[in-house]
Amino acid sequence: MFVTAAFLLLTACTQNKTQTPDATNSTPAQASIPVINEPSGPPPAFDAQRAWQYTKDVVGFGPRPIGSENHRKLEEYILGRLKGDDVEADAFTATTPEGPLPVRNIIAKYPGTKDGVIIIAGHYDTVYSLRNSGYVGANDGGSSTAVLLELANQLRGKKRDGYSVWLLWTDGEEAVRQWQSGVDSVYGVRHLADKWQKDGTLKSIKAFLLADMIGDADLNIDRDLDSTPWLEDMVYQAATRLGYQSHFFARNEPMDDDHTPMMQLGVPSADLIDFDYGYGNVFWHTPQDTLDKLSPKSIEIVGSVLLETVRLLDSANLPEQTQTKPRA
Ligand SMILES: [Zn+2]
Repeated sequence: MFVTAAFLLLTACTQNKTQTPDATNSTPAQASIPVINEPSGPPPAFDAQRAWQYTKDVVGFGPRPIGSENHRKLEEYILGRLKGDDVEADAFTATTPEGPLPVRNIIAKYPGTKDGVIIIAGHYDTVYSLRNSGYVGANDGGSSTAVLLELANQLRGKKRDGYSVWLLWTDGEEAVRQWQSGVDSVYGVRHLADKWQKDGTLKSIKAFLLADMIGDADLNIDRDLDSTPWLEDMVYQAATRLGYQSHFFARNEPMDDDHTPMMQLGVPSADLIDFDYGYGNVFWHTPQDTLDKLSPKSIEIVGSVLLETVRLLDSANLPEQTQTKPRA
């Protein structure tokens, strides 16, 4: 009975977020976890109440699918929180099953002393096909938008003693009609990965850390089988250092998400996602994805673990980039 239930659960996940075994197979074998030196500098700080206010503000815009007025208001809201920062947009028109739609990735750059970049990403759009259902995506879209906004507060105003960190609000993560890997999904990151490969930026990216659905009050971040194993290990190490390991990696799940295009181009990536949102993931992509299911503490846990992972990356002997082969 248990085995059957577990099997059904896995099947449901892989149908909805299509499993992509090729993403792992096409990546060169990764080294084991790099040697870590004790990080220098202060441990991470994260203001949970401020992040919670951001979550409420973002959700307050209502449904935020690409091409909508609410989406445009949210773009302005994000940019308004990043005044004075080094901000860049990657805007383009995506070809989708519902016709051409505008997509805009937002990137905020915080310089460091070391050569190389760590990306922390999360999507800010909500599900297009649910745009008229009252769906507000509090967890799926809201929590990732908010955690990045609070990370910006922690990163600005001082040059990092480590790698540069770029915060990336990705757009068009959600499918427009039905999730199809590499076709109807992750429009924003697919565009950015191509662009960064062509202009050489990709070579400087040391790690791509992704946060998605991280606000669930019952927080259980999955170990993603389609992420880079050594980077997942490092995330767990960061969680353990902060005493948050009980919220991490009780389950293993394959994930097709915003990190997929980066993985396919060989960028070490880790998807921090809790794909068990309500028993059996029942609130996922339903109008029940509302603020009352979330907790400021969960956002704080993930935000702090992301910052601690960055500190570990700063002080690690990272494997040389051996990737960036053209995408098939
Ligand atoms: Zn989603």
